[in-house]
Amino acid sequence: MRCRRCDSPQIQRDYDDATTLITLVGMRKLLCNTCGYVFHGFDPFNILNRTPAKPDSGFSKRRLNPRYHTHLPTAISLINGTPSNGNGKVTYTDPSKGHCETISKLGMGLSLVGSRFSAEELSEVGRLLFVRIDLPAATMEGVVSILDHERLSENKKWFLAVKIHQISDADKAKLTSYLDERSKAQPLIHRD
Ligand SMILES: [Zn+2]
Repeated sequence: MRCRRCDSPQIQRDYDDATTLITLVGMRKLLCNTCGYVFHGFDPFNILNRTPAKPDSGFSKRRLNPRYHTHLPTAISLINGTPSNGNGKVTYTDPSKGHCETISKLGMGLSLVGSRFSAEELSEVGRLLFVRIDLPAATMEGVVSILDHERLSENKKWFLAVKIHQISDADKAKLTSYLDERSKAQPLIHRD
């Protein structure tokens, strides 16, 4: 990963890396050691280190919500309209193919080639998306909202940090079952 402004490879996590859901799905606040530029990047494997500066108040929350690295085929549609306001008419765009790269009970990190959508739409915090994720044993659907994004301009690839906004009980059960399997089956649990 390189600095968005000066292209330096000397990148570290920023000192005040937010202890929020954004962190939970692998998005990081990053600091360039060469020019001081601060930007957001997707670092699901925690490759980049941070010099600890203060006690990490988000630790217990993250421990309760382990995040798993995945690469699950995911169909992503934008939702136009407001589902919550009664008479609101809601439409879905045609889906764009992407992947679910990290997943937890609360949110996900999604990757996609965003050419089907406008940069404004994908950059809008709170924007609702409809996602259909191919889990190994089932397909789950749900509405998620955008928390943060990273855009890799070279190839128009986007990473989106999203939180689960609305999910049916049946789909929640599928997700829980998948996370349970992951926690039992393999040791690759990413915690900060
Ligand atoms: Zn820089």
